[in-house]
This record gives sequence, structure tokens and C-alpha cells, in this order.
Amino acid sequence: MTTLPLFDIYRDLHAHPELAFAEHRTAGVVADHLRSLGLEPTTGVGGTGVVAVLENAAGPVVWLRADMDGLPVEERTGLAYASVHTAVDEDGSETRTMHACGHDLHMTWLLGALERLIATRDSWAGTVVAVFQPAEEVIGGARAMVDDDLVDRVPRPDVVLGQHTAPEPVGRVTVGSGPVMAASDRFTITFRGRGGHGSAPQTTRDPVVAAASAVVRLQSVVAREVGPRQAAVVTVGSIHGGTRANIIPDEVTIEVSTRAQTDDTRHQVEQAVRRIVAAESAAGGLDEPLVRVRPGANVLVNDADAAGRVLAALEGVVPSLVAGDSVLGMASEDVGDLATAAEAPIVYWFTGTTDPALFADGAEVPTNHSPFFAPLAEASIPVGVDAFVAATRAWLA
Ligand SMILES: [Zn+2]
Ligand SMILES: [Zn+2]
Repeated sequence: MTTLPLFDIYRDLHAHPELAFAEHRTAGVVADHLRSLGLEPTTGVGGTGVVAVLENAAGPVVWLRADMDGLPVEERTGLAYASVHTAVDEDGSETRTMHACGHDLHMTWLLGALERLIATRDSWAGTVVAVFQPAEEVIGGARAMVDDDLVDRVPRPDVVLGQHTAPEPVGRVTVGSGPVMAASDRFTITFRGRGGHGSAPQTTRDPVVAAASAVVRLQSVVAREVGPRQAAVVTVGSIHGGTRANIIPDEVTIEVSTRAQTDDTRHQVEQAVRRIVAAESAAGGLDEPLVRVRPGANVLVNDADAAGRVLAALEGVVPSLVAGDSVLGMASEDVGDLATAAEAPIVYWFTGTTDPALFADGAEVPTNHSPFFAPLAEASIPVGVDAFVAATRAWLA
């Protein structure tokens, strides 16, 4: 059995990021490495997902998950192994790609953990299922694997475990309990008026004015409707309509991203968005707006008992361990869909991968999705591997 050192695998993955549901080369690299470990991976699960089962006598079943996709970001880290990859984005345009969210590390951690668990298989019993998931960034890869019968194709888990890179000092691992990531949704809303000459607005129903008014009014959802102790976000990230100053268009389309930390708030925000765009349309005499929702991630809730077990297992294993707040931020993740489908508890934690010197300087620390996001890979790899192995062994017999 000859296997590449983990840092080599990491550099290769980092230099060749692929976008959501297009992780073909990535899946191949992962599958090849799994085979070199003596496993028999199943590829093409939910599109480009890869699954491998490591069975070692009867015992508990642990699913370990790593996501595989990169982002449409042009890397500016200056690293020797920086990405020079390009791909076609969902809108059809050519874009540079980057592992700006650390999913290359997630895969490396999981491969390293499997290697360690195989090397120490005399000392544990049970089954480890490695789930390499596509398309986390667009939310949907977990769902795609579930829809492709993932749950029935492998042993059912007693727990689902995963970890994400965090822009915190290398070695700091934060394990939360309860809700740890927010729900997200994406709305595409088309205001439908009646176009005409810019000099004769009285003959039109102007969707530009209705959309502009709605964009402003949407800011009041968080400020005036959601309770001050309930976190939510409403962002209008795009607005498109019209071609010339003297032509009033028929339609204007906006895209809205929302986040919420509870299901109730998520529902409240959706109702408010729908009410406001309908009311602004009515106020301008427009037709009913067309509202399309692309449901995103659900609130990700760490099981309290399982999180306690992970915390105990990581004590003394990782350089710095933090029992995190219940809710850590407004970012979203779809890993919870795997646990929900498998009816198993989940623990998803955050592993710092940033050069500690950056914090000492008071310099700006690049966050995930930044073109400057540059984990200290060599130092981060053993931390993530150790964390995965220790947490997994807290369940294995
Ligand atoms: Zn991301
Ligand atoms: Zn990510």
C-alpha cells in the first residue's frame, strides 16, 4: 500500500478546485486515494459524491462527512500551489475557481483519518462511512446524495460527524451545542409592470420604482419585524431591469438572500418578503410579482449529548478546545440534511486553520470565501485528522 503524504494530496486538491456538482477530477482523486487505502469507493452518488465503507467487525456506525466543491473566486494568496483553474459558472460565464472555503482541507482531513483508522484497526470495532459530498456551496449536494438513496446504500449511522475550517488560529477547535448554523433561502422576485416611453410614465406601470421601493422596505424586515434578540439577515444581492434611460421596462428582477437562526424566524422572514413585494407591486399598480424560492439550508442543530461526547474526546487531543456558543453565526450548511435523512444525531464543529501570527499583528484576517483565504495547511492537517479520529473513536467500540 503506497499512499501520498497528505500535504501532497492537499496541494493537488487546492490547485484544482471545481465548482458545485462539477467535482469530477476531485472525486477521481478522492476515489483513487480511497482505493490506495484498500477501500472500494462508490462514485457518482448524488452526481459527483463518493462514499466508502470501512467495516471492522460488528459495532457502532459513524458517518464522517467532507464537502468537495470550490468557489468562483480568483485566488490571490500568492501560494506556490495557488489555483489557476477556470470553470463555467451557473450563469454560463467563464470564471476562475478557488478552494476559498477550505473544502480541500476537509477532504484531506477525512482521508487522513481513514488512513489512521485503518492503521489502528486492531484497537476498534464498528463501521466508518466516509461521505465525500458535492455542492455544499450552493446548498443541495447533501440532498442530492440522499435522493440517490445514500441512506439505504450504506450502514445507518449512530452519529454523523463533520468539521469546517474557521478563520481562527490553527489548532483552536470550537464545538457548539444546539443550533450552530443558520437557515438560508434564496428568492428570485420579478416585478411585472407595463413598459413604455420614459417621457410618458403615465402610460406605464413602472417596475423600477416598485422594485426600488421594495428594496428599501425589505430592510425593515430585520429592523422592525424580527425580534431584536432573534438574528436574521435579508440581503438584496442583485437587481436587474431595463436597458436605456428613456425606456421604462416591463420587468425588474431582484434576488434576495435570507438567513435565520430558528425555523420560526425563517418562516416569519419569508412571509414578510412575500407581503412586501406584493404590496409594493399593488401600490404601483403592477401585476402580482413572480416569487420563486430556492430553499437553502435548514438550521443546523448539534445534538447536545453527542456534542458533549465530542468535546470530551477532543480534550487534550487538539491544541485548544472551545465549547462554543449555541449559535455561531449566520453562515449555512447542508450537512444536517444527511443526519436528518438518516435519523441520526449530528455534531459539526469548527477547526481554526489561520496563521496565529496574523492575529498578533492585528492585521485583517482573511475569512472563508476571501481570495486571500490561505490556511496554514501543514499545521492544520494533523489537527483536523486528530479531531476526526478522536471524535470517531468516541463512538467506535
Ligand atoms: Zn463556503
Ligand atoms: Zn464551506
